[in-house]
Amino acid sequence: TTAPLGHSVIPIVNKLQDIFSQLGSQSTIELPQVAVVGSQSSGKSSVLEALVGRDFLPRGNDICTRRPLVLQLVQTKSKGDGTEDEWGEFLHLNGKKFFDFNEIRREIQAETEREAGANKGVSDKQIRLKIFSPNVLDIALVDLPGLTKVPVGDQPSDIEARIRTMIMSYIKRPSCLILAVTPANSDLANSDALQMAGMADPDGYRTIGVITKLDIMDRGTDACNFLLGKVIPLRLGYVGVVNRSQEDIMSRRTIKDALVAEEKFFRSRHVYNDLADRCGVPQLAKKLNQILVRHIKTVLPGLKTRISAALVTVAKEHASYGEITESKAGQGALLLNILSKYSEGKDLNSFSSMIEGKNE
Ligand code: GDP
Ligand code: MG
Repeated sequence: TTAPLGHSVIPIVNKLQDIFSQLGSQSTIELPQVAVVGSQSSGKSSVLEALVGRDFLPRGNDICTRRPLVLQLVQTKSKGDGTEDEWGEFLHLNGKKFFDFNEIRREIQAETEREAGANKGVSDKQIRLKIFSPNVLDIALVDLPGLTKVPVGDQPSDIEARIRTMIMSYIKRPSCLILAVTPANSDLANSDALQMAGMADPDGYRTIGVITKLDIMDRGTDACNFLLGKVIPLRLGYVGVVNRSQEDIMSRRTIKDALVAEEKFFRSRHVYNDLADRCGVPQLAKKLNQILVRHIKTVLPGLKTRISAALVTVAKEHASYGEITESKAGQGALLLNILSKYSEGKDLNSFSSMIEGKNE
């Protein structure tokens, strides 16, 4: 399986975690959360799946994501023999292991219905799923219901405001990276995703624009101006992607095949040839990785300070045990010193005179 997200960061994070475990330190690198925003059926779940490299999220042209799904990716040690175990565990099922990712999708659907009903209702109660795999980064991805305007089914009349509040509660956190997803076959200049991301992150330090469905734009139109930031500028820029269509989902096209098809699409469209660094799921993963590396760099000085402080404490303790010495008397005194450090409150006077007596 392919997991574009994390290929360049996994080695860095691994090395750091190894160092920390040797130090017996609690310090770890906490990676930020990544959340998707966008209107309903814009392709949010599809983008997340492509990044993780596994099929397991409910997707479709109706409202599928009806509760926030917090997807905690947990990196396991690779067995190194090519037969890796990858599984999922739901919080609400007390860690029962799911090795079949289709079963994970069915459980997400069932658990959505348990809380939000079967008729398009939406709930802000999270579903929490952990995915264990050697091919992922320790990162949390959040799949959110899409923005809608007109209530359908069991949705209340204020559905739009409710969903906005729910999305905002995730993307307003300064540690949250925002994937603002806009389909290319809609009015890009009026993107709900970019509008909301702009409110949560006005300086654009943590928003990546994602344009989906480049394959089904009107004939004769393309997304170049948008990808170049000429329509709505974005500090971290845009990436255009082609995910699987509904037909692909029906015919069970794999993520791997979809990535090959995406690459072929961009190669065959000359308008996108000059924009190769802004096209395709692998580029999106690369961009996310760069942001994660930048994040790691910003947290490193803090970790260094903590390690230096720990080092000073240990050095002081070491010095307090006295100098290394060759003489018997010196060694006795040193031993006494160490013993008294470790037996606070105990009377060592008799022991002391015993050693001193022997040495004289
Ligand atoms: P969400 O509601 O934003 O999570 O959107 P989904 O990921 O569920 O996708 C909605 C529908 O759009 C599904 O039928 C997908 O197959 C389809 N879709 C998503 N991305 C693309 C794309 O890039 N191209 C095409 N043709 N269809 C897409
Ligand atoms: Mg969805």
